[in-house]
Formats: sequence, C-alpha cells, structure tokens
Amino acid sequence: MPNLYVDGEWRAAAAGGRREIRCPADGTLVAEVDEASSEDTLAAIAAAHRAFHDGPWPHTPARERGDLLLRVADLLVRDKDALARMESLDTGKRLVESEYDIDDIVGVFRHYGRIAAEDAGRVVDTGNPDVVSRIVHEPIGVCGLIAPWNYPLLQVSWKVAPCLAAGNTFVLKPSELTPHTSIHLMRLLEEAGLPAGVGNLVLGAGPDAGAPLSEDPRVDLVSFTGGLVTGKRLMAAAAGTVKKVALELGGKNPNIVFADADLDVALDFALTAVFLHSGQVCSAGARLLVEESIHDSFVDALVERAGRIRLGGPFDEKAETGPLTSAAHRDKVEAYVAAGLAEGAVLRCGGRRPDTAEQPELADGFYYLPTVLDGCRSDMSVTQDESFGPVLTVETFSDEDEAVRIANDSIYGLAGAVWTQDAGRGQRVAARLRMGTVWINDYHPYVPQAEWGGFKQSGTGRELGLAGLEEYRETKHVWHNIRPAEQRWFAG
Ligand code: NAD
Repeated sequence: MPNLYVDGEWRAAAAGGRREIRCPADGTLVAEVDEASSEDTLAAIAAAHRAFHDGPWPHTPARERGDLLLRVADLLVRDKDALARMESLDTGKRLVESEYDIDDIVGVFRHYGRIAAEDAGRVVDTGNPDVVSRIVHEPIGVCGLIAPWNYPLLQVSWKVAPCLAAGNTFVLKPSELTPHTSIHLMRLLEEAGLPAGVGNLVLGAGPDAGAPLSEDPRVDLVSFTGGLVTGKRLMAAAAGTVKKVALELGGKNPNIVFADADLDVALDFALTAVFLHSGQVCSAGARLLVEESIHDSFVDALVERAGRIRLGGPFDEKAETGPLTSAAHRDKVEAYVAAGLAEGAVLRCGGRRPDTAEQPELADGFYYLPTVLDGCRSDMSVTQDESFGPVLTVETFSDEDEAVRIANDSIYGLAGAVWTQDAGRGQRVAARLRMGTVWINDYHPYVPQAEWGGFKQSGTGRELGLAGLEEYRETKHVWHNIRPAEQRWFAG
C-alpha cells in the first residue's frame, strides 16, 4: 500500500522515490516507504487549500470537530500496541517508553477534543448602544506541520489535534527517519471520518518534501519542531509570504541543585533529566548546576549510577535506555564531547561507545555511553550547544544569584529545574529563570492542559494548553451598526 496521503487517497511518490527505514538499535530493515519530492508536497498543499476554501471542515461546528478528535483518541487506544511497536522500531526507544508516549498522545487528542468548542469569542463594549461588536475566532487556513524524530507521534499530536480542533486543514511532514506512526495516524483520521483533503501526509527529506510548506503562498501557518538551524532557515523562508510561524526548537536546560535539596531525590531525577531516551529530549536537563559545597559527593554518586545504566534495544527488558537515532547523530555527539575535552572539561564516565565484546547485541546499533563532563564553565561550547545525546555537563555555583546568572547564560530558554527544600527560594529562582517551563523539585513532567514552548532562541509561540489552540486561530472583529444613519461628514 502506498504511504503518501493526499486528498483522501493513498499515493506513491510522483517521481517514484523510496526510502529504507532502519531500526537504530540494530540496523534491521523496518520497511521501505514512499519518499515525496516537492511535487507531491505541492499536490498536498493544493488539496488542503481546496478543502479549506471549498470544503465543509472549517464550518463544521466546533463540537463536532471535537467529537472527531475524541473518536481518534479511542482508535489510538485500540491500536496502542501496534503503534508503540512501530514507534520503537523507528526510533530504537524502549517499548515501555513508546507505550507511555501513546498514552500521552491519547491525552492530547482528548484534551483538544474537549476544548475544541471553548472560548467562542467575546462581546466588546464599544460605549455605543447602536453597535454590536464581537470578537470571533476563525481557523487560520492551511497549516504546514513539520515534526522531528525523537518523539515522532507525540510531537505530531501536539500539532494535528489543535490544528483540527480549530477547523484548519493541514499537510503533515514527519521526520524522514520515523514515518510509521504518522502513516497510521492518517488511517485513523480517515476511519474517524475526516473529510478528504483536510489532512494530508507527505514523507521525505526536509529540503525536498518540507521546504514548500514554508515557501508556498497557499500555506497560512507553518508549525515546526526541530533544530535551531533548520528553524532559522524556515523562518526566513516563511518571511517571503509573511505566513505565521510557530517554532519549537532546541534547549540547553539547566538543572539547579541547591545544597538544601532532598539530595537522594535530586540525584535520581538528575539522571532521568539527562539520560532519558539517551538525551534525545528537547527539555533534557543536560546542564547540571550544583552548589559548590555538595559538588564532590553529589557528582561522585551521580557518576557511579550513570556508569551502571544499561543500554539495549527496544525489546530488551533489562535495557534502561536505547541507541541514538543514526550514525550521523552519534558522530555529532562524539564531536561535541571531543570539543568539550579539548576545552578542559573532565571526563568522569562514558565518553565512548559501549564495549561490544561485553555486549555483542549492541554492535549494529548507534549506542553511546551515558557521559558526565565535570569542571565545565559557561564559556565552553559544551555548556552552550545542544548535544541531543546522553551527555551531562557539570558546573558549580556559590549562591542563588550566581545559579540564576549561569542558568540564564544561554541563547536557549526552553526548560529548567530547581531543587531546594526552601519553598521561597524555589519560587524566587523560578521567577527569574528565562524559560518556558520551570520545574521545582521535579523534572520532565508535562500535561496537555499546560502550555509548552521556549523563551529566546528555543522558539516562538506555544504548543499545548489553550495557547496551543490559539496558535491555530485567527481573531476577527465584527462590528455591526444596528441603527445605520447618514453621517454627513462631508456636507455636500
Ligand atoms: P531537524 O531540524 O533536523 O528536523 C526537523 C524536521 O524538519 C524534520 O522533519 C526535517 O525533515 C525537517 N526539515 C529539515 N530541513 C527542512 C527545510 N528546509 N524545510 C522544511 N522542513 C525541513 O531536527 P531533528 O534532528 O529532527 O530534531 C531534533 C531537534 O528538535 C533538536 O534540536 C530538539 O531540541 C528539537 N526538538 C524540540 C522540541 C520542543 O518542543 N522545543 C521537541 C522535540 C525536538
């Protein structure tokens, strides 16, 4: 069966392109899928444009659009096992993590299904009794949705669910590395009754299949999650047609541990913060800031535990984390660590691939050991650049002011955490951190009801929450003069 979904039909790529998808855990061939070129994307944009301007979807009552999303949520529950397996084969992540992801995705569809009809606008008091003035929300139009490979269907759901709830049509381009759950989602949307042309799927590389989504004048909004360099390129391309741009980019997220924290808990979370999914998490707590007085004992214990993290493939029940997504990505992480060592960072553990004589089953995957670099400073590339791998940098601070200054010394502002048993200090630090999400005595949780997004170069706009729906709406002012009369501004 072909894999591109355009105008309600499953199609092969017009130019016949195909791509092999291989599991990063062991290199096995998962499947071959159709690979779109710009020709396919332009056809998908045309279909989404027709469906928006001539089709029923934008005018379907919001409640009915919400009901469709709730049906999709039920179908996702029905197909959870198959979806989790697909996600693990494409990403190499542990099956149990993919299962958690599918639960989260169900939650996202339910959330937008429920709030689709909320916030129907408002009446404005103009001070003139002869005028009825209303603010109404309308869909933006055709949306280009571009997603990364680390949480493939989760990132897609943050876009598709609010996009449909608001009455838009879309062209989705998931990462070329992880297409399978997006293909399946389109089948579920079809099964749930989404009209032809409202949702379209193209698979393929960014510069070919993705670029028209930021350039074409028929696309009204482009929502992108991915790296900073791509995000800048996309924003510049979108300027040509002044389309709305929503960017969820990278992060270099500080995890700040004060000496008065519950240190056992802080230590446990410091590991999860950075090593979950081998660090391939935009909000990874990859920058540990630890109060000077506890540095030695805290970091010694952390290194000891990091050295015991067990790597393995998605179906290895003893594995605690998996591989990096590709050989190219592992090369990037290796170059990043080498640069840090050259700048004077101290390697405390990891810093290399695992020994495949000890674990031969890792030989064909893109594994890299959990790595801790101590003795880091703000002026090093390793504390400033995102590695997107299992690498923790360690810096120290002497007081609250210094912790905040170091934490904010970054071009990024996605997320961060503070650990302390002094509630006042937790709140003070949270208020001063220039980040879209701050956790106090926790790391990583998120809920679809709460906004997610970045300050500074971590992005523009918000996903999730109510703002995540607003992102996909235009605001219109309707002024109604209910007692029209001549004005006679010009006497003649
Ligand atoms: P990437 O920028 O390489 O690719 C992201 C997507 O953009 C892919 O689908 C890719 O094909 C597409 N793309 C590439 N060039 C394009 C172009 N010229 N036009 C249109 N599309 C193009 O990022 P990645 O390596 O897939 O993902 C990792 C990055 O994503 C990390 O930096 C991470 O921090 C970030 N991320 C951020 C969040 C967040 O919520 N802020 C969430 C997940 C990942």
